[in-house]
Amino acid sequence: MRVLVLAGTSDARALIGEISAKYDVIASLAGATRDPIDLGCETRVGGFGGVDGLVAYLEEAKIDVVVDGTHPFAAQMTWHAANACAIAGVRHVILQRLGWKPQAGDDWRYVERFEEVEGIIPEGATVFLGTGRQTLDQFAGLKGRRLLCRVIDPPQRAFPYENGRFVVGRPPFSIEEEVAFFKAEGIEWLVVKNAGGTRSRSKLDAARQLGLPVVMQKRPKRPEAAVVWSVKDCVAWLAQ
Ligand code: NAP
Repeated sequence: MRVLVLAGTSDARALIGEISAKYDVIASLAGATRDPIDLGCETRVGGFGGVDGLVAYLEEAKIDVVVDGTHPFAAQMTWHAANACAIAGVRHVILQRLGWKPQAGDDWRYVERFEEVEGIIPEGATVFLGTGRQTLDQFAGLKGRRLLCRVIDPPQRAFPYENGRFVVGRPPFSIEEEVAFFKAEGIEWLVVKNAGGTRSRSKLDAARQLGLPVVMQKRPKRPEAAVVWSVKDCVAWLAQ
């Protein structure tokens, strides 16, 4: 069975580790990270060219099953994959981790779009943007706040606003590391996507310890499709 895993997450990487001895696995990366971790299987890099491009690829590469293991916020790829698989008649499942839920002591404010943050975080605040470089154009309204955006790769261009800067760091970080970082930088607010999982949960635990409010972006709408919520369940789904 030839399985295409749309990757770019630690869950996709773990799944590939579990199944590559059993199936013929091809991983696909968008090419967003300059130095990605080796997935240990045949890996293609770069977009497919929309739904039509993916339909053509599925046929050419004789793919039997697509596992969409992309990030919960990689909505375009997820919709493209669902549509392309429907057109090509290829079986398809979304592997997605559960979203985070607030615990006692958390102070979360929910938004659909980051443009809403402007009306929530007051001027003068120091803000940690844990949302990735690609989201920065959505924070143009946050004038008068000090912005810190954490990125995995050293940035190749200057921060787009004079009131902010990049901080380079590759997750995971321990709660203690996050507490120390937020204290050292005088962080007063966090802006976070509801990515879920344990790897990047520590920033939320640190925020709770320090009593910091968090603006949490809700997940985008998913297409109608089979969904599994863990690598183990995905392995079982494939075995069926
Ligand atoms: P996106 O907005 O949903 O996708 C934009 C385009 O990138 C897609 O239309 C597709 O191009 C291409 N693409 C995305 N994922 C791909 C993959 N795994 N293989 C081949 N092409 C892919 O995605 P994104 O939010 O930019 O995320 C890009 C990658 O980073 C994904 O693999 C995702 O898992 C990972 N990631 C995203 C986030 C996040 O917060 N969004 C966080 C961590 C990791 P074509 O239309 O040309 O096929």
